Amino acid sequence: MAAQAAGEQELTDGFHLVIEALKLNGINTIYGVPGIPITDLGRMAQAAGMRVISFRHEQNAGNAAAIAGFLTRKPGICLTVSAPGFLNGLTALANATTNCFPMILISGSSEREIVDLQQGDYEEMDQLAVARPLCKAAFRVLHAADIGIGVARAMRAALSGRPGGVYLDLPAKLFAQVLNAETGAGSLVKVVDPAPAQIPAPAAVKRALDVLRSARRPLIILGKGAAYAQADAAIRAFVEKSGAPFLPMSMAKGLLPDTHPQCAGAARSTVLRDCDVVMLIGARLNWLLSHGKGKTWGEPHAKRFIQIDIEPKEMDSNVEIAAPLVGDIGSCVAALLDGMEGKWPASPADWSEAVRTKREENIAKMAPRLMKNSAPMDFHGALGALRTVIKSRPDTILVNEGANTLDLARGIIDMYQPRKRLDVGTWGVMGIGMGYAIAAAIETGNPVLAVVGDSAFGFSGMEVETICRYQLPVCVVVFNNNGIYRGTDVNAAGGTDPATTVFVKDARYDRIAEAFGGAGGHATTPDELARAVNKAIELRRPTLINAVIDPAAGSESGRIGNLNPQSVLKKRQ
Ligand code: ADP
Ligand code: MG
Repeated sequence: MAAQAAGEQELTDGFHLVIEALKLNGINTIYGVPGIPITDLGRMAQAAGMRVISFRHEQNAGNAAAIAGFLTRKPGICLTVSAPGFLNGLTALANATTNCFPMILISGSSEREIVDLQQGDYEEMDQLAVARPLCKAAFRVLHAADIGIGVARAMRAALSGRPGGVYLDLPAKLFAQVLNAETGAGSLVKVVDPAPAQIPAPAAVKRALDVLRSARRPLIILGKGAAYAQADAAIRAFVEKSGAPFLPMSMAKGLLPDTHPQCAGAARSTVLRDCDVVMLIGARLNWLLSHGKGKTWGEPHAKRFIQIDIEPKEMDSNVEIAAPLVGDIGSCVAALLDGMEGKWPASPADWSEAVRTKREENIAKMAPRLMKNSAPMDFHGALGALRTVIKSRPDTILVNEGANTLDLARGIIDMYQPRKRLDVGTWGVMGIGMGYAIAAAIETGNPVLAVVGDSAFGFSGMEVETICRYQLPVCVVVFNNNGIYRGTDVNAAGGTDPATTVFVKDARYDRIAEAFGGAGGHATTPDELARAVNKAIELRRPTLINAVIDPAAGSESGRIGNLNPQSVLKKRQ
């Protein structure tokens, strides 16, 4: 890392120290967009043996870093230029924080002396102040000698406790600062045990087991915190020993296979309504679980909640938690298993039977719709085809975004392995598609199938070029129904402008991949779709398949239409 200056002492600089600090802490990949003042940083990181993946837009690079963090339990790194590039990356940083994914956004910034006096520097912005309220922690390094500590603080903040996004501000001047090489090397910090185990108190473990044992109709809900924890074997052992039906949140699908006899995924409304004790493992009682109350939960029947979470403040956030179990999921589940030694009363047989019956009933009801081989396809027919693809290739990582494309895929496509389903997460955000797909391929080497609505795809579609440039094994399927929710809306004013929710009719998204040397596909029936996807995965070739969906098939806002205010006066317009 050192350079010889004037034949005298060995020197290093800010560029080298940033790269060495990251490498020392096990970071081998950077996602970003080059530009002032970090162009050389990217070049030099690549020269130093890191993988530097250049995107077309920072938000996609940021989403890639966020999901890399989720998949690897190391913070994903996103590198951006100052002000506008930083702001583009910030959306992803906020989204990572909201989803509890560890990530570090590193942005170059303009000169403090000019920015702070607001004298109009190139891309002037007080980035640290802007980032701070939107992430878990934010730091700025002003002296090259502090780079080691700055990176260490960022790592620890991202990974310890509840994981989240961290902002690291590196002003342009820092990179060129020169330091004696030995002093520089000595200033680097290797973070020891960045995510320390958090062992739950024995009394809390006993309380949780007592409540669970008392249940007549227990339910275990697995969230993406459980998937993140990588305690797969212990979680499975615990769920099986408890005998309770379990419900996976969407990114926890596959922790236990969706086809597991205890899986209540296809009996969701029944178990939420009828259960009497709920154990949450790495899942928050937010809007995705109707806040733990109301009609979904079958009020007025009282339920008792057990919650495992690393964040103590999460307890009682929406309803009373009878048995809070604060600690990391690996340690908590191990402690629960220890406490269950010997005979553990099986979940009451009539409850398990009732759940199983309901689930089989719902699966049987759905089956014929999934086998419909019509043209144009409806969502069920197309997703039925993709369901069989994932069944025969369970190590494929499924990335999923859209409205109907998301809601229906979540229920229809069974998952068999942990951390194989990546989707819009806590915010239900659109635009994660290509960023998540790219990082999933880079970090795991597994094939990736991105199933995205035509609208969702538009937010990150240009990254198809990135997928082709790096020759990634990503197959993108665009569910093309000519618009947002549906492709059939008309402009109520009757003018020449199209309705606000429709796109160009019968567009050929597949040609975007072809433009960059990837493979294009055009599928009008489920059979064609399955064949094209199987081939793409088999060949590990960058592919985009335009899947023609009936423009009238979708429903407004997918399954969350209740959140979309509608004017009662609309009819009168
Ligand atoms: P989902 O959307 O799948 O329901 P959430 O994102 O709402 O999941 O909840 C994840 C929860 O998991 C968060 O409250 C977070 O604090 C918690 N969590 C994340 N990692 C761990 C861990 N290693 N141990 C314990 N809890 C964790
Ligand atoms: Mg659409």
